[in-house]
Amino acid sequence: MHEWALAEAVIASAAETARQQKMSVVEEIVLNIGELQSIDAEMFASLVKNQLTQAEPLLQDAEVRVVRGEAAFECQACKKEFSEQDAKVSEEEREAIHFVPEMAHVYMRCPACGSPDFSIVRGRGVFIQEITGQP
Ligand SMILES: [Zn+2]
Repeated sequence: MHEWALAEAVIASAAETARQQKMSVVEEIVLNIGELQSIDAEMFASLVKNQLTQAEPLLQDAEVRVVRGEAAFECQACKKEFSEQDAKVSEEEREAIHFVPEMAHVYMRCPACGSPDFSIVRGRGVFIQEITGQP
């Protein structure tokens, strides 16, 4: 998805959450960006921050913080869930996987049974992890 549209979606979702929690002012929005989502986290945070200045008043002064969500994989053969650390990928391989997640199948095998048949269960996408504010 285009970063601009993604930022708008994040802001719309933050506004909805703030209203559900009956906040009158939002102080901080914590975004979780999966480490397999090819997006520059700092750049995206400032893009959201910039768009907030045109958002509805309750969101205008919110701080934007980004955390990276760790990737997780699930083996289709034995159903074990594992991380990149469990699969013992090198730093270089890890970078390649973060750049093109499909590369995981080149560099990784299930650490339990050795199968190359696994799916990505976490680490993609952007979601609002936390929103804080005043009632
Ligand atoms: Zn397995």
